[in-house]
Amino acid sequence: MLNLFRHGTVTQIEPIAERMRRVRISGTQLRELSWVPGTHIRLRVGDPRQPRSWLRGLLRTYSIWDYSPEGHLDICVLDHPEAGPGALWSRQARIGDAIAFMGPEGRFALREGAPYHLFAGDETAAAAFGAMIRALPSSAAVHGVILADGPGDRLPLDRDDRLTWIYRPDELLDAVRSLDLPDEPGVAYVAGEARTCQAVRGHLVDNRGWSRRDVVVKPFWAPGRRGMD
Ligand SMILES: Cc1cc2nc3c(=O)[nH]c(=O)nc-3n(C[C@H](O)[C@H](O)[C@H](O)COP(=O)(O)OP(=O)(O)OC[C@H]3O[C@@H](n4cnc5c(N)ncnc54)[C@H](O)[C@@H]3O)c2cc1C
Repeated sequence: MLNLFRHGTVTQIEPIAERMRRVRISGTQLRELSWVPGTHIRLRVGDPRQPRSWLRGLLRTYSIWDYSPEGHLDICVLDHPEAGPGALWSRQARIGDAIAFMGPEGRFALREGAPYHLFAGDETAAAAFGAMIRALPSSAAVHGVILADGPGDRLPLDRDDRLTWIYRPDELLDAVRSLDLPDEPGVAYVAGEARTCQAVRGHLVDNRGWSRRDVVVKPFWAPGRRGMD
């Protein structure tokens, strides 16, 4: 049978924010992957002693926070209150655990030649944004808003002076509405909770006159939905 999975081992676990763990996965199968910042892996979070568990939907998707072609990648997993298999996996992960994943894959990626880059999303999107912003040349113009529960959720992001962190109950849409952006459209990268993503795109297209092509949207989760990819 064709094996779609790559295999590695957990080699580091650290809290990167109050509710987020950075988990490093290493191994020879992770060398020289073709990785584009913003893309993700689909991780098998089922019990490895029950090899059929992934067939029951126990895959969860995580953006790659960082990658080394020498053979490791980092993901940042949010420990949210309704913790499903993904958040529970991150709580229980230990150094030496065997890992199986698919990818890197996905189309959430920087667009070259944009007059400026606008990042809008929540704390789950911050991992993808971190990798994307790191990959931008220092001359690239950056704007951004990130929604989180509180300052403890902030990930260490490059160009942080260009990003506004806001905290619930404030809303991402209001913060994007209030942004002082150049008159002409840039390229927006919008990720996180699904309805909020649609609302932010609606605002950029309907109120600011952007074309839908200028807005790269990737819903990461939705209340009541399990394991989006
Ligand atoms: C392309 C892509 C990239 C992603 N990158 C990341 C990433 O880098 N880091 C990361 O932490 N997650 C990321 N996610 C989300 C991740 O895949 C899981 O959906 C998330 O970890 C929840 O999985 P779970 O098994 O804990 O909960 P699930 O079983 O999937 O969901 C259970 C319930 O928990 C609630 N819920 C789910 N997520 C959240 C949340 N963020 N806040 C509040 N409530 C929630 C919902 O009501 C949901 O019905 C990404 C998703 C996609 C599609």
